[in-house]
Amino acid sequence: MPGFELFGDLERKEVNDVLDNGVLMRYGFDGMRKGHWKAKELEVELTKAFNSKHVQLVSSGTAAVTVALASAGVGAGDEVIMPTFTFVASFEAIMMLGAVPVLVDIDDTLTLDPKAVEEAVTSKTKAVMIVQMCGSMGDMDALRSVCDKYDLIFVEDACQAIGGSYKGQPLGSIADVGCFSFDFVKTITCGEGGAVVTNNEDYYINADHYSDHGHDHVGHDRGAETHPFLGYNFRISELNAAVGLAQVKRLPEFIEIQRRNYTIIREALSQIAEVEFRRVPEGGTESYAFLNFFLPDLDTTRKVSEAFKDNGIDGCFHYYDNNWHYIRKWDHLKELKSLFPISKEVKDGLRYLDTKTFEQSDAYISRNISCLIKLSWTTEEVKTRAESMVSIIQSI
Ligand SMILES: *Cc1c(COP(=O)(O)O)cnc(C)c1O
Repeated sequence: MPGFELFGDLERKEVNDVLDNGVLMRYGFDGMRKGHWKAKELEVELTKAFNSKHVQLVSSGTAAVTVALASAGVGAGDEVIMPTFTFVASFEAIMMLGAVPVLVDIDDTLTLDPKAVEEAVTSKTKAVMIVQMCGSMGDMDALRSVCDKYDLIFVEDACQAIGGSYKGQPLGSIADVGCFSFDFVKTITCGEGGAVVTNNEDYYINADHYSDHGHDHVGHDRGAETHPFLGYNFRISELNAAVGLAQVKRLPEFIEIQRRNYTIIREALSQIAEVEFRRVPEGGTESYAFLNFFLPDLDTTRKVSEAFKDNGIDGCFHYYDNNWHYIRKWDHLKELKSLFPISKEVKDGLRYLDTKTFEQSDAYISRNISCLIKLSWTTEEVKTRAESMVSIIQSI
């Protein structure tokens, strides 16, 4: 991560194509667009990259999660199981649809513990959402078994793990429906954008219509299209899609750079006996967007995190103390601070957060440091960084 570091001529060319004809919208205006359909082309490229039948581009990763859940029929009063460690978009999207986020513990993969998922299943559970955090994945086979056993929809948020795989299949394309983000800091970026990925044709058609006001996209006269059901506007623009089209072509190159940089740092940290790396399930290959490791205890982890900051080692996060990615700091969720009234079902459904504790998640996140792997580093810079990380950890 992030793809903006290597922004260049290819991105400029794709954007100029769009500016040249002036059609900034992805649908319609066939005569004016001189054959340029950037969003459509990007969808085709992504189906290839994800080895999936269908891709629907949308305006953000958060929109992708919302559209994926809506397309699978998740709505009022349904419970969606999700991890305690994730980006806030996970519960935002669930609650936007009137559904209830049910947070459960993570394990040493840093995402859903299949046992905790099974224990959380109730008669109201509709879906399980895995979030492939920080470039790696959960135990996909075990989670699939739980979903099959209780007839649940399996949703996969792979916004932070593009380019990773599990048993040969790209992350994001393994569950029933997957989600990606192409926001400014992701491995490939559109500026703002996202994608819903699925092999399920019904979900795809639902996503296509729902993300554009329910339009059926039949024929060439937008005004004459019918609306089989209600929708919303989660469209991506042609300008954003053009940037993504350039970036997706560079994905293999980006992953290779991440792998090289990740490996140098990992090998250096491996010399320290007290450093333990996150578990990658058998058959899994990381996207190398982050390097995650555990230190012996909270106190040591806090000290190392501070020392990294003081010594210019940027991009390393101790999520236990960070308000974006871990439940400990999500007071706005726990206190239900909403601009508008929230339904009784969601309020009642979230009452468990007043008392529930997540000791198992705390045990992992309190000891975890997650370091962003940049694309623009030279090999020399990575080596120097790795050496300085080693000496900081050893000194503490
Ligand atoms: C970035 C991210 C999102 C949301 O993506 P946006 O495009 O910023 O809306 C959702 N889930 C995860 C895990 C993310 O990292």
